[in-house]
Amino acid sequence: MTYSENIARLQPSATVAVSTLAKKLSAEGRDIINLSAGEPDFRTPEGISQAGIEGIREGRTRYTPAPGLPELRAAAAAYMTAGTAFPSEAARVVVSAGAKQSLFNACFCLFGPGDEVLIGAPYWTSYPEMVTLARAEPVPVAGSEGRDFLLTPDDLEGAATARTKGLIISSPSNPTGAVYTKAELGAMAEWAKARGVTLISDEIYQEIYYGEGDRAPGALDLDPDAAGDLVVTNGMSKAFAMTGWRVGFSYTSRELAARMSALQSHVSLNAATPSQVAALEGLTRGEEGARDRDRMLAAFRRRRGLVTRLFDELLPGCSYVRPEGAFYLYFRVDGVFNGEMKSASDVCTRILEEAGVAIVPGEAFGDARYARMSTASSDEDIEQGVRRMARVLRGG
Ligand code: PMP
Ligand code: GLU
Repeated sequence: MTYSENIARLQPSATVAVSTLAKKLSAEGRDIINLSAGEPDFRTPEGISQAGIEGIREGRTRYTPAPGLPELRAAAAAYMTAGTAFPSEAARVVVSAGAKQSLFNACFCLFGPGDEVLIGAPYWTSYPEMVTLARAEPVPVAGSEGRDFLLTPDDLEGAATARTKGLIISSPSNPTGAVYTKAELGAMAEWAKARGVTLISDEIYQEIYYGEGDRAPGALDLDPDAAGDLVVTNGMSKAFAMTGWRVGFSYTSRELAARMSALQSHVSLNAATPSQVAALEGLTRGEEGARDRDRMLAAFRRRRGLVTRLFDELLPGCSYVRPEGAFYLYFRVDGVFNGEMKSASDVCTRILEEAGVAIVPGEAFGDARYARMSTASSDEDIEQGVRRMARVLRGG
C-alpha cells in the first residue's frame, strides 16, 4: 500500500505515546509512577457527570448541529468573553471534540501549501503536526531562555517572512507553564495585525493560573480594535477535569467559525451529544462549579510548590522554568549527557527503566535538552517520582 503525501511527515503524538506506554507497563505489574500525562488526576465533578447521565436518559443521544448545541455555544461564548470587550456571540463559537479538534480546524481552514506558521517554542507537540497536515510549514521560534522562552515582537520579526500566515502560542504554556502578561500579548497581537498574521491563542490552561486574578491574561482581554485576526481555543479538559468527554471550543470571527463548522460537518459533525450536555452544566453551574474548580486549583498550586521545593533541595544544579500556570515542570536534563545518554530521549528512557518514572522528553516540544513532568498527580507520586528521578539525574 502506498500512503498519501498528506501524512508523509506524520508522527504519532509523543505525549500520548509515553503515557500509553506507562499505563501498559503498570498493567503488566511494573512499579511505574506516571508523571507523563497532561491530564488532571481528579474525577469529573459529580454534578457535571450527572448532567451527562441524565442527558442520555432523556434521549439527548442524537446529532447536534455541527458547531454544537446552540445553548452550549452561547455558554462557551459567555465563558470566554467574560470581563472582556469582545462580543459574547454564539455564532463566533464552534464546539469540537476537544480543543485538539478546534486547533486542527483552525489550522486546516487557515493554512495551506506555501504558508509558514510561527510556533512559539517549546511548543505543545501537536501544533507542528497540525500545521504539516494542512501542508503548510511549521516554523518553531523560541524566546530567550532567560525570559522563560516567552516571545517578543523582535523574536517574531526575526523569524517571519512574506509567507508567514499564522502564529500559534499557548499561555499558560504547555510545556513550560510560562504565562504572557496582557501587555506582552498586546505587543504580539499588534505585530501580527501589522503583518497580516492570524494569531491562534491556545488558552486551555487559562484557569490553571497561579498569579493574581481568576485566570491568566488571554487574547480576548485585548482591545478588539487593536487586535487583528484571532482564534482563541479553550475547553473542558483541564479546569473541569473532563479530558475523556472530549469537548473543546474556539472563538473567532463569524466567517471563520462558519468555515470551521463546515469542515467539521464533514469530518466528525459534532462533539458527542451527552458530552455537550455535561459541558453545558459545567459552564453554567455558578457557585458550585467555582468551588470545584477552586478545590482543584488549590491542589495544583500546592503541587507546584512541592515540586519546585523538591527540585531546589534534591537537584540544586538543575534549572527549570518556574511555572506560573498549567500543571507541568519543564527542566533541563542535559547536565547528565554523556557518551551513552546524548539526548533527553535517552535520559527519559533511563529514568523509566531504572527509576520507573515516566516523563516526556523535550524532543516532543522541540528542545532535546529538557524534559517535562506533569504535576497533575498525587502529592505522594510527585514526591516519590522526583526522589527516584533525582538519583538518575545526579548520576548515581
Ligand atoms: N492544547 C494544549 C496546550 C494541551 O495541552 C492540550 C491537552 N491535550 C490540548 C490543547 C487539547 O486538549 P483537549 O483536546 O483535551 O481539549
Ligand atoms: N495535553 C496533554 C499533554 O500534553 C495530553 C496529551 C496530548 O493530547 O498531547 O500531555
